[in-house]
Amino acid sequence: MPKSKKENVRGLGAKYGSTLRKRYSRVYVGLKASRECPSCSSARLARTASGIWRCKSCGYTVAGGAYDLAQAKGK
Ligand SMILES: [Zn+2]
Repeated sequence: MPKSKKENVRGLGAKYGSTLRKRYSRVYVGLKASRECPSCSSARLARTASGIWRCKSCGYTVAGGAYDLAQAKGK
């Protein structure tokens, strides 16, 4: 039975090696996932720049991690 394919992110093609593509895909999927705004609780919080997260609904801006609202600990 073939292994089920994981969610692959397009854009990298066959470049950079499978490990880096998997890491990129994991970060990218998390980046695009919808997040709840701490202010108005709508799920429209999106990253505007590295470490800056802004709610598209109420305009609330909050600092967080570069690729996730929660800052990565350790690695
Ligand atoms: Zn909001």
